[in-house]
Amino acid sequence: MKLVIGNQHRENIEIAAQETLFHIDFSWWALREDEYHTYFHSLLCEKHQKEFNYVGDYERNLIDWVNPHTGEVFLIDSVEYIVRTHCSIQEGYIPEGMAMVDSIFRALLAHGNQPLTIKKLAYLIGRVGQESTILRMLGGRKVYKGLRPV
Ligand SMILES: [Zn+2]
Repeated sequence: MKLVIGNQHRENIEIAAQETLFHIDFSWWALREDEYHTYFHSLLCEKHQKEFNYVGDYERNLIDWVNPHTGEVFLIDSVEYIVRTHCSIQEGYIPEGMAMVDSIFRALLAHGNQPLTIKKLAYLIGRVGQESTILRMLGGRKVYKGLRPV
């Protein structure tokens, strides 16, 4: 009997990993403005880290951003804009050994925050076979870095 339950459990994880789509929920970040600025600053590449010097040391501008997948236009912070258009598409943007949550966040951002499955995310961050671990983290009650099911 236990075996049957175990198989069912594995099957559910498999289905969820293939079907549930996750994205970065920016409304979660909107409630944490300071954390947002600090975190996005840390996502800048070396060149842009230097350019922006330190968090808060420049005028914040809002820039029009067009979601390439939906055509939706919205305003984003200039640092987020630089991260999306430059830093997130540089080689080595997701270094090996980086914390899982941060790797997933970076992978989503590099893909224009297009909702992706756990299976695809595991592949992008080099953690194929760890889908159930990722699912437990992203599917739980606590929200990490705004990562949520769509
Ligand atoms: Zn950059």
